[in-house]
Amino acid sequence: KDIPTPETFQQVLKEAYETFKGVNEGKNADYIPFLAKADPNLFGIVIATVDGKVYEIGDSKYPFSMQSVSKVFTFAHVLQTLGSTAVEEKIGVNATGLPFNSLIAIELNETRSVNPLVNAGAITTVSFVPGNTPEDRWNQIIGTMSDFAGRPLSVQEEVYRSESETNLRNRGIVQLLDSYKKLGSDPLESLDLYTRQCSIEVTARDLALMSATLANGGVNPITSKRVLAQNYVPKVLAVMLTNGLYEDSGTWAYQVGLPAKSGVSGGIIAVVPGKFAIATYSPPLDQAGNSFRGQKAIEYITSKLGVNIFSGA
Ligand code: GLU
Repeated sequence: KDIPTPETFQQVLKEAYETFKGVNEGKNADYIPFLAKADPNLFGIVIATVDGKVYEIGDSKYPFSMQSVSKVFTFAHVLQTLGSTAVEEKIGVNATGLPFNSLIAIELNETRSVNPLVNAGAITTVSFVPGNTPEDRWNQIIGTMSDFAGRPLSVQEEVYRSESETNLRNRGIVQLLDSYKKLGSDPLESLDLYTRQCSIEVTARDLALMSATLANGGVNPITSKRVLAQNYVPKVLAVMLTNGLYEDSGTWAYQVGLPAKSGVSGGIIAVVPGKFAIATYSPPLDQAGNSFRGQKAIEYITSKLGVNIFSGA
């Protein structure tokens, strides 16, 4: 059950990078104009361990917006604030099996729930961040993300603007949620905070440390700050495993066997509990909206290192 050696990590990173950097499948997200312009050749992979070591290759320090990966960390914060029963009741944790921006799961409310890692549930989650003003709530969101990363993060203003101008579907989602009285605070304010959180700038290295904090039971492995109470970590990882890769979450669990989360800007995080986390960045996405090279790289590394959580190794 040991953590692999530095040489093993470096070797497997190099192999994964070399194997998949020339693969040109997938397509940048185009429904957010700013993301459509990203260089499709960008590719970075980072591994961060629970003992604070970081191994990286490629464009590991290239800044991009977190998009859906942000949903994990606001979920963690709200879980810690509301408690796990309230999250189950007010938001839901079951997989929707539907695309991330679907309105159908909201309509199926009586029989299906949404969950914190698809848009409807993530906006609901944001609406339950406690606070009297939008500034209060925002400070908690950005503060949580920064604590997970171990450095102060900020918003990519151009992405925030681009997304605020074009988020028609999310406006539909928030109105529908409001009509069912699902939100904990003002609908448009919640949508605005959600859009801002999706625009937070990170690098693959940041994402690796954020997810290594989850691998490390809620304590950032570099700053040693406890960001999430230990007993909530398995809850976050369970929702990542069942919902982290949009409607392909089942296939991902079947093929890779790690709790993970992707975002439409091309980032993916994956957690090996108690050991390390992997983060990748590569903008071209597959049909479901998951980074093509990122999935391949994580699958390769997981299988080489034998760390599928169901393998019992
Ligand atoms: N900001 C994006 C949206 O709400 C995030 C989607 C994603 O990464 O899945 O549409």
